[in-house]
Amino acid sequence: MFGLIGHLTNLEHAQSVARDLGYPEYGSQGLDFWCSAPPFVVEDIKVTSATGQVIEGRYVESCFLPEMLATRRIKAATRKILNAMAHAQKLDINITALGGFSSIIFENFKLEQIRRIRNLELDFHRFTTGNTHTAYIICQQVEQAAPQYGIDLSKATVAVCGATGDIGSAVCRWLSQHTGVKDLLLVARNRERLDNLKDEIGMGQIMGLEEALPQADVVVWVASMPKGIDIDPSKLKQTCLMVDGGYPKNIGSQFSHPGIHVLKGGIVEHTLDIDWRIMHIVAMDVPARQLFACFAESMLLEFEKWHTNFSWGRNQITLEKMEKIGAASVKHGFRPLLTT
Ligand code: NDP
Repeated sequence: MFGLIGHLTNLEHAQSVARDLGYPEYGSQGLDFWCSAPPFVVEDIKVTSATGQVIEGRYVESCFLPEMLATRRIKAATRKILNAMAHAQKLDINITALGGFSSIIFENFKLEQIRRIRNLELDFHRFTTGNTHTAYIICQQVEQAAPQYGIDLSKATVAVCGATGDIGSAVCRWLSQHTGVKDLLLVARNRERLDNLKDEIGMGQIMGLEEALPQADVVVWVASMPKGIDIDPSKLKQTCLMVDGGYPKNIGSQFSHPGIHVLKGGIVEHTLDIDWRIMHIVAMDVPARQLFACFAESMLLEFEKWHTNFSWGRNQITLEKMEKIGAASVKHGFRPLLTT
C-alpha cells in the first residue's frame, strides 16, 4: 500500500474545504484550531497502471498550514508532520510521500533526530520526499514545452528560482548536464549554497530575481515560499515560459499576456482516471487524471515494489535516479502536464 501526506495551501482554503466536506463548524475556525487538529485519513485510493496492475493507497491530511511557518508556530508545524508520519506508519503503509511543505519542514527542522513518537519508532525507509520524480517531471515540462513556444533550449537562458533547494539543484544538474541549455541563472538567498552549486554544476550565474527575470527565456520556480509573489509582466521577455513547481505556487499573479506561458510545474497526468476527492479539493483542472509528481512517486515505488526512501535527505538527487524514476513513470502511464 502507498500513502500520501498532504496539506492545504492556506487557512482560507482549509476553511472552505471543511465547509465543502460537510463540517461547517470547522469552516469558521482560525489557525489555533488547525494547530491542534490531529492527522486523519481523507480517503482510500485505487490506482491502475497503464500495465493493468492495480495498487491501493491512502491520503493522510496532516492539518499543517503554511501560515504556521509565517507566524513562527514551529512546534505546531513539526508536530503536524511527525504525527502524520506516525499515523501512516501505524496504518502499515509501505511507502508514503511527504507532499509539499512536509519534507521541507522535516529537513529544515532536522526531524530525523526525533524518531520516537509516543510508543512508535519511525521507520524512515517507509517515506519518500517524492522530489526525484518532481524534478524529473519539471525538467520534462521544460524540455517538451519550450519548443512549443519557439524556445530553443540550446540557445536559451533558464532562471531557476530556488536553485539550491532539493528540487532546484536536481533541475540545475539535469538542465546543465543532460539537456544542455545556454545559460543558467541561479536564484536563492544563501550565497554560500549558491557558490557550492555553481562549483558543482560548472556553469551558471548567481543573481537576484529582479536581475534574472528580464534575461530569462524560461523560469523554473521551485522556491519554498509560503505565499506567491507578484510579477510585473513588463519585466519579462516577450516570449517567456514559466514552470511554477511551488506548492503553494511561487507566482501570485495571473497573466493574460500572449507571450507569457505559465505551466503548473511538477504535475503529472495519468493515462487512466483515478476515483478520488483529493485532487478536486486542491483544485486540479482535471482532478481524475492530474496529480502532484511527488504523490505519483509513492505510487511508482509501490507499483515497482521499491519499498525504500527513494528520495531522502537534501541535494542528493542524481541524474541516474531521475532517469530510473522517469522510466517507471512512463511505464505506468504518467506524463508531464504540458497545457497552460
Ligand atoms: P527546499 O527547501 O529544498 O529548497 C527551497 C529553495 O528555495 C532553496 O533554494 C531556498 O534557498 C529557496 N528559497 C526559499 N525562499 C526563497 C525566496 N524568498 N527567494 C528565493 N529563493 C528562496 O525545497 P524543495 O526543493 O523540497 O521544494 C521546493 C518547492 O516545491 C516547494 O514550494 C514545495 O512545496 C514544492 N514541491 C512541489 C512538489 C510537486 O509535486 N509539485 C513536490 C515537492 C515539493 P534560500 O533559503 O537560500 O533562499
